[in-house]
Amino acid sequence: MKVLVAVKRVIDAYVKVRVKADGSGVETQNVKMSMNPFCEIAVEEAVRMKEAGIASEIVVVSCGQQNSQETIRTALAMGADRGILVQTDEELQPLAIAKLLKAVVEKEQPEVVLMGKQAVDNDFNQTGQMLSALLGWSQATFASKIEKADSSLTVTREIDGGLETVEIKLPAVVTADLRLNEPRYASLPNIMKAKKKPIDVLPAADLGVDAAPRLQVVKVSEPPVRQAGVKVGSVAELVDKLKNEAKVI
Ligand code: AMP
Repeated sequence: MKVLVAVKRVIDAYVKVRVKADGSGVETQNVKMSMNPFCEIAVEEAVRMKEAGIASEIVVVSCGQQNSQETIRTALAMGADRGILVQTDEELQPLAIAKLLKAVVEKEQPEVVLMGKQAVDNDFNQTGQMLSALLGWSQATFASKIEKADSSLTVTREIDGGLETVEIKLPAVVTADLRLNEPRYASLPNIMKAKKKPIDVLPAADLGVDAAPRLQVVKVSEPPVRQAGVKVGSVAELVDKLKNEAKVI
């Protein structure tokens, strides 16, 4: 089974994000960038599928600027076989990414597309769902367990009330949730090996897709600064504060 994994380059999850002075977005200059954590989980799952003899080839795809190649290299070092960069300097929103990924899927013909449930930079949580709709494929989102049967997948999904298990026909799009697995660190020998693995570069403009933005960011602002905590002297004082100051009981 051929598996395609979509990975996004985002600001490292441990970096404190700074909002630009003009409120038009966040600072990305001189900021550490990494693979989106949920995409790492998707890559790890694909590598485990290959180790278990379920996946035959893992192709990693990222849409964005030239430097997204670093993110693809990270996935190759984790165990993916080859990469595709859909290159553009234009801003890409979920619908455009889903359309570009659809074009790659049509070219590569994978049986499964693994993705993160959301990108932690914009928290859209849309691209996987849009891709499956555009392809007319089955989808299972927020996966915390994936098992393969002959022509289907059994996916355990994390939902508000607990866990839900669904069986979906292949081909399918599956998005990874936090508890699906714990991604490995790439070893030094594998980082070296990854340097030799191929990455194809496809100019986004050559895929014949209308990737124009449909959303306009009106304003980006910092969350309100949290107030300092206070120590209370007794349970009665705590109850009084909760009732009369916080007004939560
Ligand atoms: P989002 O819908 O933006 O929250 O992203 C959900 C998932 O879509 C991510 O975890 C990736 O798997 C995929 N994705 C989003 N943006 C890109 C991108 N530029 N290139 C490749 N995959 C992406």
